[in-house]
Amino acid sequence: MSYTTKKIIAGNWKMNMKKSDGLNLIKSIKEASKAIDESKTEFIICPPFTLIDAASEELKGTNIGVGGQDCHTQTSGAYTGNISADMLKDLGAKFVILGHSERREYEKETSEYIAQKAETAIKAGLIPIICVGENLQEREAGLELKVISEQFDKSIPTNEATADNIIIAYEPVWAIGTGKIPTLEDIEKIHNLIQEKSQERFKTKDINILYGGSVKPTNAKDILSLKNVSGALIGGASLKSEDFIAIAKASEEE
Ligand code: PEP
Repeated sequence: MSYTTKKIIAGNWKMNMKKSDGLNLIKSIKEASKAIDESKTEFIICPPFTLIDAASEELKGTNIGVGGQDCHTQTSGAYTGNISADMLKDLGAKFVILGHSERREYEKETSEYIAQKAETAIKAGLIPIICVGENLQEREAGLELKVISEQFDKSIPTNEATADNIIIAYEPVWAIGTGKIPTLEDIEKIHNLIQEKSQERFKTKDINILYGGSVKPTNAKDILSLKNVSGALIGGASLKSEDFIAIAKASEEE
């Protein structure tokens, strides 16, 4: 069984939103989300670490879960500047994004390192949202299936992970923040591949796979109605409550 059968609408706020603007956005998403059918949609908000506590407090009792954007491989210790999975959990987080392409690129995180983080996150009781995706060069060389396959093999921990305690996000790097998206056939092809990989690893194709990369209210319906797309991981459009909720609305229409 996958973690959920509801459509997952997840927002990655990245390094945006100071305290008061962030709180206003959380409140506005909370209010607007009342128009969305709880039985069909699960929301996740991943604000920066500075807002996790406030978000968890504000969203208690709603169908909006809170997630971190990263965590360390260790649960505590001499790791200056880092945040552990246990700390996120302690502040009320249920999820953590791991292996986002911005961390793979700027922080030089490898798939093996991401797998260690994911193992620690699962042990702490968090659901990791593990990101995979090819860059433009790899796409232009026709290597996307190979890259995704390798990232899946190495980024998902061999210990602890099951089909129902992780979420995968397919995020082509060249589609993030660019307004470009793959064709629907291409999205389907990669999501099918991830299902096949899940079948090999977990003996089930029933795993949540989000698509991420320039999801907007205007393209959400087409993307979210693809059979094997369980939801969306949304960057830019998650910073405006109207757009974030409009994407969820579009997923109700499919
Ligand atoms: C992301 O960074 O996870 C993302 C999908 O960004 P955007 O929606 O802005 O492309």
